[in-house]
Amino acid sequence: MKSNIYNSLVFEMACRQFDRAADILDMDTTLRERVKMPKRCLAVSCPIRMDDGSVIVYEGFRVQHHLSMGPTKGGLRFHPKVDLGEVAALSMWMSWKCALAGLPYGGAKGGISVDPYALSHSELERLARRYMQEMIPFVGPNVDIMAPDVGTNEQVMAWMMDTYSSYVGSNATAVVTGKPVSLGGSEGRKEATGFGVAYFAKSYLEDFGIKPSNATAVIQGFGNVGSEAAKALVNFGVKVIGISDVSGAYHNPKGIDVDQAIRYVAKNRTLEGWKGGERISNEALLELKCDILAPCALERVINETNAAKLQCRILAEGANGPTTNQADAVLTENDEIHVIPDIICNSGGVIVSYFEWVQDLQSTFWTREEVLNRLCKLLDRSKLELEAQRKKLNCSRREAALTLGIHRVAEAKRIRGLFP
Ligand code: GLU
Repeated sequence: MKSNIYNSLVFEMACRQFDRAADILDMDTTLRERVKMPKRCLAVSCPIRMDDGSVIVYEGFRVQHHLSMGPTKGGLRFHPKVDLGEVAALSMWMSWKCALAGLPYGGAKGGISVDPYALSHSELERLARRYMQEMIPFVGPNVDIMAPDVGTNEQVMAWMMDTYSSYVGSNATAVVTGKPVSLGGSEGRKEATGFGVAYFAKSYLEDFGIKPSNATAVIQGFGNVGSEAAKALVNFGVKVIGISDVSGAYHNPKGIDVDQAIRYVAKNRTLEGWKGGERISNEALLELKCDILAPCALERVINETNAAKLQCRILAEGANGPTTNQADAVLTENDEIHVIPDIICNSGGVIVSYFEWVQDLQSTFWTREEVLNRLCKLLDRSKLELEAQRKKLNCSRREAALTLGIHRVAEAKRIRGLFP
């Protein structure tokens, strides 16, 4: 089925991944489209009064992929290139990611086409609140739970929670996750995604007989996920030799002072002007020889032009959808490179979001140590299941991850039946 609603390269890419997994699973044709197509979406206009008195209307979206296993769950992205097709693809990946991790959620994703850094603090607040207000009939602690993604953060989640709570007349902390700890957020949530990426990378390094203290890493994207992954890798003893963000890419074979880079970005917003490494091109960064390459920004950065040039041992996908279908085919043929696919590699974020939601619903809070212990247990379980599936089906890690997640969603739909 070709969609008349969702129309983008990223959506096509997610559909192709699904079709491949459904073929491997030999999925019944009566189930395929039901499992694949997003269940529902809402597109809204968000008019905002700017500080100079003018009014600008921003487009916002939310896609809920399936409603068969619980409320829907997923981040909210503020980026100029956001469109409905991209958000739909991201919602599909959230479904497979949640099912793979064993979380009782369907996938969702939201977005606004805006450059959040071009807005003042108060303009950003008005936009976030207006978006949530438009979404009120569509979300809720038992309906759809938002979280941070590219371009959003704890502050945006606090405004979302406050706007929704004002509407229902009581504190509804569980309507969003990734909140500040002081407002019902969870210890460990901020670092969870990046920590999980580093945890998996380290675990696979060890499987391949490489000591973390002898290993090097390159991180593409130095936002929340990339910077936390870099920090955790350094804690595991890995040397980070390359980082990049919107300002460009930086290389330092002696090892980057990650804490100093994080402090620089906190002060200057980007790495522009940073002196901790030599400036290189974004392409050269991805092609550096290293043990771990972690794309931690946007989709489709590993593509048919660079896939054959990668020189890493492990491709740890911190971003959602960083590898195109064509690049994936190239990497599958390359025995030297091991891909830790996005829907498992970056699942630490939504796992700790789930912990945050559980803590909010029970009004009982766990220590950082408890959160990280529970997180590691779930990550270990996912990895064991992934490797077992890979052996059983004799397939790539991406196919193993997708088939595991997709099969669970398909089973839920099959057993619930088609109503009426
Ligand atoms: N935006 C993150 C992701 O893509 C987190 C989602 C969440 O915590 O709900 O996995």
